[in-house]
Amino acid sequence: MPYYIKRKPKKKKEKPLPLFEKAGIKVKKKPDLVAKLDKVFSRYIRLRDCMPNGYFRCISCGQIKPYEQADCGHFHSRRHMSTRFDEDNAHAECRACNRFSADHLIRYEANLKVKIGQMRFDKLAWKAGQPKKWTDFELVELTKYYKALGDKLSKEKGL
Ligand SMILES: [Zn+2]
Repeated sequence: MPYYIKRKPKKKKEKPLPLFEKAGIKVKKKPDLVAKLDKVFSRYIRLRDCMPNGYFRCISCGQIKPYEQADCGHFHSRRHMSTRFDEDNAHAECRACNRFSADHLIRYEANLKVKIGQMRFDKLAWKAGQPKKWTDFELVELTKYYKALGDKLSKEKGL
């Protein structure tokens, strides 16, 4: 008997592809997962860097500002996927610096070296140059992780 007759039938029928996939249009799943993680990671970083009085010191200009004015500022740009969710690479930064200052990274660099030390600074720079492809699983797990950490900090700091 030929093998294809002996073969057991498949238990589950595969779902038919949606029309847009048949048409060759790729479904954008990953950007959504990245965006979700961006959101909870940013909240965690801003809460982490906020003092018990509800204020934070901007990593770039050093000014003390209320939590509401904090952005999650990345030292190595978010386009470097390997360091996009690295806690050494993201710090509370005021909106003025993060969004409108062209040279904020000069002061960011100096203050970051003080905050994390030269060794971690160098390690981060190396890591930023490495390629990284996040799996959906990693993105989902990290999102859960930072959501939980953020919720805990939010409760503790009353923010
Ligand atoms: Zn600032």
